[in-house]
Amino acid sequence: MVVACADSRVDPGTIFAARPGELFVVRNVAAIVPPYEEDGRYHGTSAAVEFAVTSLNVDMILVMGHGLCGGVAACLAAADDRPIGRFIAPWVGLLDGCRDELIAREPNMSSAERQRALEHRGVQQSLDNLTTFPFVAREIDSGRLKLEGAWFSIADGQLHWLDRDRGVFDPVTT
Ligand SMILES: [Zn+2]
Repeated sequence: MVVACADSRVDPGTIFAARPGELFVVRNVAAIVPPYEEDGRYHGTSAAVEFAVTSLNVDMILVMGHGLCGGVAACLAAADDRPIGRFIAPWVGLLDGCRDELIAREPNMSSAERQRALEHRGVQQSLDNLTTFPFVAREIDSGRLKLEGAWFSIADGQLHWLDRDRGVFDPVTT
């Protein structure tokens, strides 16, 4: 399964040269997986995760962020009191905790550096959120499911893979 951004430049099928039937994909603004919630609201991404894990029995969930992400930019804009959109702002607000921590820790980053750092941190947040789903945690514990993170650079077409131990995204060489 791939969780990717809705941005037209980061189509997982194209990036991974996938054939029909190979990838189960859900795309949304900023490639975010929300935390597990039983609030009876409308959880399109959570529904896709549930189906992938409990019915399709996928063996990997990849969360793939990307460079120049408008959703991540919207989260940063909200920090400057410029929230964007009726639905976009609360959705990308799922990254507010990461954003605030980043700004507090690295107050002197340039805006481009901050954007990229939050794109990276957002992937890690979504991976953490995935583990809050009981059916995901169960499959990970049993060794049948693993979680991976990636970040695609639109500027040069380079895919980067997250080393979760080091918290670093390394370029993928083929
Ligand atoms: Zn995006």
